[in-house]
Amino acid sequence: MEQYDVVIVGAGPAGLFMAKELSKDFSVCVIEKNKIGETSKFWVVSNKNIKDNKLEDCVISKPHRCCYKDYTGKSIGGIIKDGNPIVDEHKVLKKWAEEAKRNRAVLRESTNFKKFIYKENNV
Ligand SMILES: Cc1cc2nc3c(=O)[nH]c(=O)nc-3n(C[C@H](O)[C@H](O)[C@H](O)COP(=O)(O)OP(=O)(O)OC[C@H]3O[C@@H](n4cnc5c(N)ncnc54)[C@H](O)[C@@H]3O)c2cc1C
Repeated sequence: MEQYDVVIVGAGPAGLFMAKELSKDFSVCVIEKNKIGETSKFWVVSNKNIKDNKLEDCVISKPHRCCYKDYTGKSIGGIIKDGNPIVDEHKVLKKWAEEAKRNRAVLRESTNFKKFIYKENNV
């Protein structure tokens, strides 16, 4: 039976970011029910986030004027001095997946996580 220090369910931005970080020190397996890198819900990222996470190569454009709607449907917009980076989310996810794989993390796609069972010191 395969054993890992960490099993991450979901290869969205949260799962893949944690996978690339945790795989530096732990054995990691990521389980994704769909294809890895196909989650496509995030695209606007702050300039600080781009810099901190070295995502410059994933930026598609940086419009200074941005207009979007919040969850109530209310429009929010404005002019952002340094531009509002829009990233290629597939590129970001692929980049993090590759980093995790380089650290020998195991990435399983098309695998639906259904349930876990508690055992002594294990799940
Ligand atoms: C319309 C919309 C617009 C958004 N715009 C922005 C934006 O501009 N900027 C921004 O920063 N954020 C934005 N967000 C928020 C952003 O999408 C989320 O914060 C982000 O996707 C959360 O990442 P996550 O990894 O936690 O979850 P998700 O991206 O939802 O990833 C979860 C993953 O888990 C997988 N999964 C689920 N259940 C199972 C299972 N049982 N077994 C295996 N795999 C499973 C799913 O297939 C999925 O790949 C937006 C969200 C929406 C809905």
